[in-house]
Amino acid sequence: MEAKSVILRNVTKAFPGSIQKQVNAVSDVNLVIEAGQFATLLGPSGCGKTTTLRMIAGFEDITTGDVLFGDSRVNDIPPNKRDCTMVFQSYALFPHLNVLDNISYGLKIKKMSKANIEKKVNKVLTVMNLNDYKERMPAQMSGGQQQRVALARALVMEPSVLLFDEPLSNLDAKLRLVMRDEIRRIQKELGITAVYVTHDQSEAMSMSDQIIVMNKGRIEQIGSPQDIYQRPQTKFVADFIGTANFVEGHVLDIQADRLQLHTPLGEITAIKHGEFTKGQRVTLVMRPESIVITQDKRNVARVTKSVFMGQTQEYEIELDDHSFQVTISNPMGLRGHQVGDLVSLDFPEQAIHVIPA
Ligand code: ATP
Repeated sequence: MEAKSVILRNVTKAFPGSIQKQVNAVSDVNLVIEAGQFATLLGPSGCGKTTTLRMIAGFEDITTGDVLFGDSRVNDIPPNKRDCTMVFQSYALFPHLNVLDNISYGLKIKKMSKANIEKKVNKVLTVMNLNDYKERMPAQMSGGQQQRVALARALVMEPSVLLFDEPLSNLDAKLRLVMRDEIRRIQKELGITAVYVTHDQSEAMSMSDQIIVMNKGRIEQIGSPQDIYQRPQTKFVADFIGTANFVEGHVLDIQADRLQLHTPLGEITAIKHGEFTKGQRVTLVMRPESIVITQDKRNVARVTKSVFMGQTQEYEIELDDHSFQVTISNPMGLRGHQVGDLVSLDFPEQAIHVIPA
């Protein structure tokens, strides 16, 4: 198998009915996923993730635009000829076939020789740790085992592109973590291109080379997990990924690498990323773990909520009519702040990310 890039050029999908409402399920999506990369489509329910994935797979017609695998336009190629396989949330195993037959099925349809099928299936059984389950029927296996069979069935086809539609949603929390690592390990080992759909941000963060955040059929931002979390380009991305505190303000002054900002909390300095103009209205984005609680009484803030979360203590702290979410890691044995305590909040410049309002 040879990994291929997946390219979407001005891809739009209008379902019948949605045309009258002038709302496209997917609108003018442009995207390049390099060969061998793990890319995740992430966004709230109804944002167009699954429709995008299904257009890549060929299960859904493309209204306008092009989908390419490497240099080849695949718009008119049927799903079974597209050199990609999909792993579904529901596993979609054949209930009347045992594990071995489920995995061999696609190769038999391709009329591959018996010896060749055996070789390929045995390899995949080993990679997926399924050697002891060959004779089992799907109903005799746990959800996690069934999902491993579904993955094995996709891998044995040696596709250039592997597609995943929320494959872990039916598994319990612990197994989801194990399967995340498993999928990522195999994808890296085989060097396959993967496109993964989820609405679970921690899944996207922990697995992806590239995250594509979608909102209402459009791409909001494409970037590495670090980019998306630390440098969100829009309020939507900042809000959807993790927790964010927002403060509105405007630019007072611009130095080479710093912004002087006027905010309801007073003047604040932030590191400059991107282009801004004097007077421009901006939104300051601050993650809960980057705000510092001090006792220096520079500003008086009141703790209104304090929740012990084990590793961390999560606070809600009110300062000048603003309520801030603040997360502090919990040193063992130390008592955290309590509701009603008066503290002070510090906003270090590297903790503030500024976006146009
Ligand atoms: P979820 O996480 O809930 O699965 P999603 O991001 O995958 O959501 P899609 O399933 O791609 O979203 O749906 C995008 C939009 O297209 C939604 O508004 C949905 O109602 C609409 N849609 C999806 N399939 C069809 C269809 N067959 N006919 C008409 N509209 C559809």
